Amino acid sequence: MSFNELGLSEPLLKAISDSGYTEPTAIQSAAIGPVLSGKDLMASAQTGTGKTAAFTLPLLEKLGQLDNPGNHPRVLIITPTRELAAQIEASANTYGKHTTLQSLAVFGGVKIGPQIKKLRQGIDILVATPGRLLDLSQQGAVNLKHVDVLVLDEADRMLDMGFIPDIKRIQKLLPENKQTLMFSATYSPEIRKLAHDYLSNPVEVNVTPKNAAAHTVEQVLHPVDKRRKSELLQHLVHLNNWSQALVFSKTKHGANKLTRDLVKTGVRAAAIHGNKSQAQRTKALEDFKRGKVEILVATDIASRGIDISELPMVINFDLPHVPEDYVHRIGRTGRAGTTGNAISLVCADESKQLRDIERVIKKPLERVEIEGFEPDHVLPLSSAGHDRSGNNSGFSKNNGSRGNGSRGNGSRGNGSNGNSRNRPRRNRNSSSSSRTNKQATA
Ligand code: AMP
Repeated sequence: MSFNELGLSEPLLKAISDSGYTEPTAIQSAAIGPVLSGKDLMASAQTGTGKTAAFTLPLLEKLGQLDNPGNHPRVLIITPTRELAAQIEASANTYGKHTTLQSLAVFGGVKIGPQIKKLRQGIDILVATPGRLLDLSQQGAVNLKHVDVLVLDEADRMLDMGFIPDIKRIQKLLPENKQTLMFSATYSPEIRKLAHDYLSNPVEVNVTPKNAAAHTVEQVLHPVDKRRKSELLQHLVHLNNWSQALVFSKTKHGANKLTRDLVKTGVRAAAIHGNKSQAQRTKALEDFKRGKVEILVATDIASRGIDISELPMVINFDLPHVPEDYVHRIGRTGRAGTTGNAISLVCADESKQLRDIERVIKKPLERVEIEGFEPDHVLPLSSAGHDRSGNNSGFSKNNGSRGNGSRGNGSRGNGSNGNSRNRPRRNRNSSSSSRTNKQATA
């Protein structure tokens, strides 16, 4: 199928061609028609598959055919994070650049005044995070009664416990009669059920296997004791010379500490999380995209939607508590057809999270021990089965080809454990020790 066949008009086709897209992605082929015809939509699309254009293009098309006499928003796109809102606004501007349609992103952490001013000038597409949208509405700065289409991007997150009260409040501000579109890489069974309360006869589009992680992402886990994770990360960063890696930490404090540890060893690292000001968040992300920052340490704020073109490496310093977040996190790499690597540093305490993740992705993660960092506290085998090499034991290859981990020597402060953890150990599984590891050279 070509873009010409999807019912898009010339200004949009021109912008598509300016963007260098030659043909629609699977989600675009599947979603653009139903969106144009006014149907509700529940789309499961893997991250990085072009889902933003899958809703932005047909919405621009629809708006182009309507008058907007009151200058009130006709399309409302809700997202969980500020970065994602800014990114969608940028996409709407890119695809709408040959139209007169106006898009605006509003989110917290920045002054509300300029947003109010822009809203007064008239907006067609409003992209918003829930909290700031409600503030603007309370201040009478935005009238949502003319919204024809509501889009919930990262819908599973928008409908979960944290956001659902805001979503319910926003629903009350919208007209009853409207088109609703939901996009997400994953839907848990409960969220799927809840989603149907907001949709009427939706077309379901599923361009990926349920909750599967991107095929283009090589996934591996390194078992390691909790107290040695930071040291192992530094070891891997230096050994592999990673020029761009996104590291996920479960806490803001942990992200700050990890960043400090990396900076101390000469790595250009920055942290991005909810305690940073919006200006700091924007700068860290920009610096990372431009290559000024090599390692960006993030909480799950960055796990959704953020598009960093050709990001080669995602590292889970901690496993997420919600298994679907694993899929979102690793979806930051291997986007738009490129390949990527995802490495998880997993300690014994995280065996439950690991089991849940392996259930969601429907396969066990390949385990590769890093020589010199073999854990004292063994990561229990997962019931999920066997590793990719067909080793039914459930894992544990020791990768002797990565060096002996001596780099971090002296900085571990391993206290009671007097054995020299950085001394190369005999491989537990010598048959696999000579295996070339893709991550080591990524
Ligand atoms: P998304 O899943 O919306 O975050 O998009 C992922 C990436 O795919 C973005 O960098 C888009 O610019 C790119 N993209 C979207 N549609 C296409 C297409 N039809 N052909 C090539 N790249 C695309």
